[in-house]
Amino acid sequence: MKTAILNIGQIISGNWRYPITPGNSILLEEEQICKVGEVTGSDIDNSDVIIDAAGSVAVPGLIDSHVHITFGDYTPRQNTVGYLHSYLHGGVTTSISASEVHVPGRPTDPDGVKALAVAAKKCFENFRPSGMRVHAGSLILEPGLTSQDYQDVVSKGVWLAKAGFGAVGDASEYIQLVTEARNAGLFTTLHTGGASIPGSFPITGEDLIKINPQVSFHINGGPVSMEDKYFEVIARDTEIAMQVCTAGNLRTAILCAEMAKKHDAFERFLIATDTPTGSGIMPLGLIYTISQISSLADFDVAELIAAATGNVAKCYGLSSGFLKAGYDADVVLIDAPLGGTKSDALSALKNGDPCAVGAVITAGVPRFVGRSRNTPPPVRKIEVIKSNIIDMYEG
Ligand SMILES: [Zn+2]
Repeated sequence: MKTAILNIGQIISGNWRYPITPGNSILLEEEQICKVGEVTGSDIDNSDVIIDAAGSVAVPGLIDSHVHITFGDYTPRQNTVGYLHSYLHGGVTTSISASEVHVPGRPTDPDGVKALAVAAKKCFENFRPSGMRVHAGSLILEPGLTSQDYQDVVSKGVWLAKAGFGAVGDASEYIQLVTEARNAGLFTTLHTGGASIPGSFPITGEDLIKINPQVSFHINGGPVSMEDKYFEVIARDTEIAMQVCTAGNLRTAILCAEMAKKHDAFERFLIATDTPTGSGIMPLGLIYTISQISSLADFDVAELIAAATGNVAKCYGLSSGFLKAGYDADVVLIDAPLGGTKSDALSALKNGDPCAVGAVITAGVPRFVGRSRNTPPPVRKIEVIKSNIIDMYEG
């Protein structure tokens, strides 16, 4: 299947250093992006689906690197079915599990957490809720796990690991667990900041440096932030990726972005939501955080979009996150929201408004075109102008 997107007003690359790609059209073939910028007359003639972007802005599908996945499209934390479908309508085409800690009755013994990670990983390999790609199966680091255990799960395809929610008694115990997991090839992530729920304990800036994971989860608090002085230290003196979350402290999220920029570490600055949690289900969380940081501080919207797309893809080694030939065909069209004071999506976000999501395409398949069920409608008429496909597939 070939899909052409024409009359694009602006193309956002996902690369924060060169955030705008010239041109006005994109061609998708099967599950990959084929051309970005210009397409030929025969490309258009041979397309099965043609979308008129009507001057709206094309961005890479958003990647939320902190979603509390369980099984299926269901969150026990907020007792809600279909939340991932809602996130897709907020422009999120990829979710990365922050570990399956919300599974009811989740085990804490080594065999149990291993089985949970393997099962989640394998289930979501076969299940794309509403077309979303879900990277699930993040091993919860628990006392008693050994290097052999890590090798076992890695051999079964598990590649994510999470420290900070286990039955560990003290933050210093995570030093060995994270080091061994990392040495076995797992991509390690660490809860950062205050205790998130009764029974858990804080991870301070000092702990974060000593434990040294690949990603500091919700470095701006999940939901309570660590001390201000560590944002500069982490940006300047470590290689740790700094994930800020919507369900955290906005002031320190901005501080973190500024320190990342100051120390040429913006590539390690990631925007995620940390939902569903006690803070709720937030289908527009990424859009809100992009809008809030850009409207309250000195950042371009396009570079903040990279923090929720290309930066994440690079950090986690994904094949999505960029509007570039060869990458996953995940494209989102955004626009100014109806009734706002700005005439295009980027100006609206810079103004502090959410943008409208006008179309979401994942794996080369349009999941909806026209308007999202969760954002204001776009001001432009984004529509399908040709389709050889009998049924637009969503499911
Ligand atoms: Zn979380």
